[in-house]
Amino acid sequence: MRLFQKHFCAIAISLWAASPGNAQLLVEPTLHIKAEAGSGRVALTLDACGGRTDTRILSALVENKIPATIFVTGIWLKHNAAAVEIMRAHPDLFELENHGGRHVPAVDTPQKIYGIRSAGSPQAVLAEVESGAAALAVTGEPAPKWFRGATAEYSPSAIAMIRKLGFKIAGFSINGDGGSLLGAKETARRIAAAKDGDVIIAHINQPTHAAGEGVVQGLLALKAKGLTFVRLDDADGIGDEGTTD
Ligand SMILES: [Zn+2]
Repeated sequence: MRLFQKHFCAIAISLWAASPGNAQLLVEPTLHIKAEAGSGRVALTLDACGGRTDTRILSALVENKIPATIFVTGIWLKHNAAAVEIMRAHPDLFELENHGGRHVPAVDTPQKIYGIRSAGSPQAVLAEVESGAAALAVTGEPAPKWFRGATAEYSPSAIAMIRKLGFKIAGFSINGDGGSLLGAKETARRIAAAKDGDVIIAHINQPTHAAGEGVVQGLLALKAKGLTFVRLDDADGIGDEGTTD
């Protein structure tokens, strides 16, 4: 119910935003990867918004050799050096991409999305994207090619701006953990339902949430079914709303 209300709120905010004299209608882009012959491929993307590291997920990925694309913020990088070290020690598994410097939504008009204040201006969107890339550069990681904004919602003008900076924008096709607020069972069910070409989003920064346990269960179920995992850099990502083309 809480999730429904949240979603409803987001719709209400978006509608409000469309009213004259106000912000633009926001979009939540989708992303798929190109289907391939065989038993199917999916891309796992995990957001590290802020907070800590869910070592249940990180350990399971390493133990089961499941590759993932991790969207990290400048804030998260600052406080999770040990996790970054583990990720960097497994370059075959982890690709680190840009989730912004301060985890503010890439929306260039002032408004709130899921209760989070948007960047609010083109300059602030630019600063969010560029400071996220700069924070990654400090870790010695390769320059990021993908960007995902906080809340994964955007104003169309912000999308155009981010594309001009050279980033592809990472939508998703399966909301695995409902912002890490879902229970373990529902999270596992959603992730285990992924099919060839799906891009899953979940979170790796909420070690105390039940959803993390479900992420691991869902991934192991997919692996048992014979699906393989690819990172965004290793697949052709096809997004809508002008996010990848
Ligand atoms: Zn986030």
